[in-house]
This record gives sequence, structure tokens and C-alpha cells, in this order.
Amino acid sequence: MNYKSKFAVVTGGVSGIGRCIAEVFLHVGADVAVIDVDKAEGEEFQGLYPDLRFFHGDIGDKSALEGFVKALRQPVDFLVNNACVGRKGLLSECSWEDFEYVQRVGVTAPYYLASLLLKGNMLAPNAAIVNIASTRAFQSQEDTESYTAAKGGIVALTHAMAVSLAGKARVNSVSPGWIDVGMYHKEIKPGEHSAQDHAQHPAKRMGKAEDIAGIVLYLCGDQAEFITGENITVDGGMSKLMVYHGDFGWRLG
Ligand code: NAD
Repeated sequence: MNYKSKFAVVTGGVSGIGRCIAEVFLHVGADVAVIDVDKAEGEEFQGLYPDLRFFHGDIGDKSALEGFVKALRQPVDFLVNNACVGRKGLLSECSWEDFEYVQRVGVTAPYYLASLLLKGNMLAPNAAIVNIASTRAFQSQEDTESYTAAKGGIVALTHAMAVSLAGKARVNSVSPGWIDVGMYHKEIKPGEHSAQDHAQHPAKRMGKAEDIAGIVLYLCGDQAEFITGENITVDGGMSKLMVYHGDFGWRLG
């Protein structure tokens, strides 16, 4: 697959997994546009790569998305809906406004971006959309309702869009497990995790941002042209591990 004439759009592409995805696209020769709330880091990132365009904006804001799409001015080959936030849940009394904001960033924005690209005839031939979900779409810790609902929403949105955009774009989601984003984050240091954090995964290590960027690149490429509407979990087997009271020395209570 030759990515040299391709144009990739990544939301939340300034830090973390989104940054890694944007850099991987740049390294294979694609042009990249990112939208992010982090202005300072975004401008610094843009200074490093001539083929990168940074737009400052909150994807939870309808007019920011409209301005962003207008400014793209060229058909999009790959849209990666990466940005998301969490505002906890029932036990923290997550408010109506906070819950609704998380859904806007995590679900409404990916829908609306696809809608704007479709309406503006800005989906390039054989386009691909990849939505970044989470294993939390399928399993939960307590007090996580706002984030978990958004992640469940984006998994369902993925297959709905795959059907609506049939023949125009393939749409898939990736559900990361626990990913160490320290290499791509100014606030998080890499390698801060314990041996147990790594060892509890059947793959015997935590995830890296590159694990997610690699599958995103694959899903955008010709080699994945028979894959659409699918969710792919990338979690080192963590969500497949069954743990009973007494296993591995783990005790309930
Ligand atoms: P992160 O917080 O490290 O980075 C997110 C990026 O998005 C930042 O650059 C941030 O400034 C930007 N952003 C946040 N809100 C925004 C908004 N409203 N508008 C525009 N930009 C915004 O996150 P991450 O850990 O790299 O996660 C990236 C994606 O992967 C998210 O969808 C997250 O839910 C998902 N995910 C992450 C993990 C993990 O362990 N890191 C696990 C499962 C899923």
C-alpha cells in the first residue's frame, strides 16, 4: 500500500495514541491533519513536520468541527476518530452536562465528522474510517458510566456507519486495552508501570501506542478491503483472562 498521496485526519492527534497514529501516517508519507484542544503542543508538533496541519479546537463543539472540515479543503482518505474524555459516573454524581459532553466528544463528533465529509463530498475513493473505542465498551470498573457509554456508543456507531457508507468508506473500530502512552505525552512518563501491571496481561506486557497505530494503519490499507463494520480488540489478551477468587493470590474483599 502506497500512502504517499493519501490524506489522513486524526482527532486528538497531538498527544497519546492519536499522536502516535499521526506520526505513523507521516512516516509512511501521508499528509496529516489533526484537531486538538492542546494549542501549545499542537503548534510544536506542527513545527516538526511540514506535511502536518494542526487545527486548534474542541471536537465537542459543533462549530469547531464545521470550521475544521471547511479548512481541510481536500478529500479525506482516512479519518481516525481518536479523541475521547471521561467524566466518571454514578458514584461521583457525574452531572447531566458532563455526561452529555463525553457523549458529544466520544460519539456525536465522530458521527458529525463523517456526516460533514459525506455531505461535502469529501470522502476520497476507498476511504476508511477507524474509530478508537476501548475494551471498556465490553467490561467495566465502577464509576465509569460516562466513558463506558461513549465507548459502547462508538462500537455500535461503527457498524451502523459501515452499512450507511457501504461503497464509499469502510468503517471499523479498534478497542485498546491498557496502553502506556508515556512516549507520546508530556504529562505521563514512560515506563512508570509495575512488573505486575505488565505481567497480568496474557501477552506479558502492557500495550504501547504503536500496537494501536499499527492496527489502524492496517485497517486503512488495501489489505483490509474485506473488513468493515468490525471491532478489533488490542489488549494483550487482558479481557479474555478469567479471574476467580483465589487465582494468582487474588482475594475478594
Ligand atoms: P490522551 O488523553 O493521552 O490523548 C488524547 C488527545 O486528545 C490529547 O491530545 C487531548 O488534548 C485530545 N483531546 C481531548 N479532548 C479533546 C477534544 N474535546 N477535542 C479535541 N481534542 C481533544 O488519550 P489516549 O490515552 O491517547 O487515548 C486516545 C484514545 O484511545 C481515546 O479514545 C481513549 O479513550 C482510547 N483508549 C485509550 C486507552 C489507554 O490505555 N490509553 C485504552 C483504551 C482506549
